[in-house]
Amino acid sequence: MNSVYRLYPNIQHYAWGGNEYIPQWLGLPPDGQPYAEAWYGAHPTHPSNLLIEDGVIPLNDWIADHAAEALGQESVQKYGPRLPFLLKVLDVKDMLSIQLHPDKAGAMVGFEEENIKGIPLSASHRNYKDDNHKPELLIALSDFWMLQGFENLSVIKDRLESLVPGFLKQVSEISWQSLMAKIWSLEEDEKNEWCWQLQTQLAQAFIEDKKNIRYWLIKALNTYPPAEGNFDRGLLVMLMMHIHHLKPGEAGYQAPGVLHAYLEGQNVELMSNSDNVLRGGLTPKHIDAVELMKHLNTDSAGQCILDPMYLMDDEIVFSPPVPDFLIKQFIIQPGTKKLIQFNTASILLSQHGNLDLEEGNVLPEGDSLFIPAYKLLDVSSVDGMAKFFVATSII
Ligand SMILES: [Zn+2]
Repeated sequence: MNSVYRLYPNIQHYAWGGNEYIPQWLGLPPDGQPYAEAWYGAHPTHPSNLLIEDGVIPLNDWIADHAAEALGQESVQKYGPRLPFLLKVLDVKDMLSIQLHPDKAGAMVGFEEENIKGIPLSASHRNYKDDNHKPELLIALSDFWMLQGFENLSVIKDRLESLVPGFLKQVSEISWQSLMAKIWSLEEDEKNEWCWQLQTQLAQAFIEDKKNIRYWLIKALNTYPPAEGNFDRGLLVMLMMHIHHLKPGEAGYQAPGVLHAYLEGQNVELMSNSDNVLRGGLTPKHIDAVELMKHLNTDSAGQCILDPMYLMDDEIVFSPPVPDFLIKQFIIQPGTKKLIQFNTASILLSQHGNLDLEEGNVLPEGDSLFIPAYKLLDVSSVDGMAKFFVATSII
C-alpha cells in the first residue's frame, strides 16, 4: 500500500479521567466531560476512525477488507486478520481499580471453562472475555503514580502494625501469599471491622507525601467511600503493594499475575488485544477472589520498570518481555529526517511538534497515523524539534 492514513482515536469518557489533558492533546476545547482514554486501534466495539478518500471508516472494518495489504501476510498468519495491538493515551485523575491479567495459558483455560458453564460474554460476572493474555506497557507522559507488585515484607509489616494493629496475628506466617489469602478469606463483617480501624488510624494525620501509602489510602477512601459501612477490600490490598513513581519518559510493564493500579498522571499505553481483567479491589465491579488468587503471582515482588534501549540518541525502543509488540520513540532535530518502515502495520502518534510527511503533507502535534505494512515513510520536522511514538507488533 502506498498511502498512510490519518487516524482519529475513540475516546472513553470514564468518570476517573481528567478534563483537560486529552482534549489539549487532540486540539479540542475542554467541554466539561472527563476524557479518560484515547484509543488508537481496531477494537471491535471501540475502533478508531480512519480517514480515507470517501470519508471516515472504522479501522476494524477497513482492515477486514484489506487485511493482507494493511497488516502484511506474516501478521495475518501469526495474529489473524486483525490489528494485534491497542495503543492508548490515558489521563488518570482518580485512581483506578486494582487488577491483574492472566497469562496466555490461564486465559485459554479460563475462557474455555466459562464457555462450558454457559456464562454469556456480556455477563457482569464473566471474568474471561477472550482467550488472549493482556501484557501492558506504559510510558509516562507526566509524573505518573501507580501501585505495582508487592512491597517488601518489612515495609508491609510496618504498615500493618501502624494502621491495622493486630492483623498480623491473623496469619501463621508473614508472606505475600498468606497475607493476600487472609485478606480475601475475611468475612464481610471482619473485613469492614479492619477497614474501619484503618480509616480511624488514617484520620489521625494528614499526609502530603505521595511516596507514603497513607496518602493514597486517604484518597482511595474519598474515591471509594464505604457504602452503608461496607468498605472496599482493596484498601487492605493496597497495604501490600509497592508505590511506583515514573518520571516523564520512564516506562513500566505489567506482567501476568502482577497486581497493579494506576493512581495519577498521564501515560501512553500499549497492550495486546484482550479484555481479560481480574479485579482485586477499588471497584464496584465484580470480583472473583478465587480466580484472582489462582492467577496472583506471589513468588516475586513483580515490580517491573522497563529500561529503554537506545538504538541512537534519537531513537528509543521500549520492548516488554513478550513477543507481541514494541513501541519506538523518535526525536527529530530541525534539518534531520527519519525513514520509518515496519514489516507489519503500525500506528504513529505525534507527541511534540508538527511532522512533515513528504511533499508538504503535515501531521500536526497530537495527531496520529495508520501506517500499512512495509510502507516507507520519510518524516522530518516542520519547525523545531519534534517527537513521536510508533507502536507496532512483533512478527
Ligand atoms: Zn492492567
